[in-house]
Amino acid sequence: MAKKRSRRIIEMALAFLLLAPVISSPALAGSFDDGGLLRVINRWETLPKDYVPEEMVLPEVDTNKAGQKESIYMVPCAAAALEEMFSAAEEDGYILLAVSGYRSYSTQSLLFKNKVDSVGSRETAQKTVAPPGASEHQSGLAMDVVSTKFRYLNRDFLNTPEGKWVAQNCCYFGFIVRYKDGWTKVTGCNPEPWHIRYIGVEHAVAVTRLDIPYETYAAKARTLPEYVLCWGTSELFCGLVGDMLQGDESKAEELRLAEEMDEDFRWDTLNRITAQYASGE
Ligand SMILES: [Zn+2]
Repeated sequence: MAKKRSRRIIEMALAFLLLAPVISSPALAGSFDDGGLLRVINRWETLPKDYVPEEMVLPEVDTNKAGQKESIYMVPCAAAALEEMFSAAEEDGYILLAVSGYRSYSTQSLLFKNKVDSVGSRETAQKTVAPPGASEHQSGLAMDVVSTKFRYLNRDFLNTPEGKWVAQNCCYFGFIVRYKDGWTKVTGCNPEPWHIRYIGVEHAVAVTRLDIPYETYAAKARTLPEYVLCWGTSELFCGLVGDMLQGDESKAEELRLAEEMDEDFRWDTLNRITAQYASGE
């Protein structure tokens, strides 16, 4: 079992005070914007045609086929998290393989066109291949993952020990399994247990615990102030989004009001509400 990497509030507060002026977190500003870590990407919220991540690297992980080495680019934070996740899986006895990372708008256009040609309609095609602009692969935050024991992009991956490991543990490295059974109406995609998307550990753990599609989570989370999105813990997000889905906006509203106040007040509010969720109030 991978070790949980939750930051403690006090460490976060210290890190914020010491590093805030120099830290460069993609989640810090405009989390839900095009280049933001929390950006929702689907057929209804597409990336612009010319969107290419500012920086990408090749994660040092094994690929399913030698020819895939050049097709697994990711943004640096996601690549580092993927490397950690693959190492942790290996420690547990599972050898994961990367299949496909960054994909350009034009490559996605071609894949989609081919799918439409083979199935005969756009509607059917887009359940299995995202239309151009609607693929998370264009963000450099997504990866398709298989294993040495099961090398196919097939939903049976979920029933393999490796697939189960990914489903249970990827959140501790900041990834979520994006398309699960029963979520097609909300995500627009058929289940894909091999497709993981990076959103950062705290949000990923919250989404996984709530066991809801990312669209459902993001619809509520995007109403929270940026300082909360950036510095909140999984416990806080789980509690807040869970409450908001039940129609209770009270704590979210306190955090929104605190955004207008000075920094001390903001931190006090964030810490107090986090502690309330931690103690189950
Ligand atoms: Zn994928």
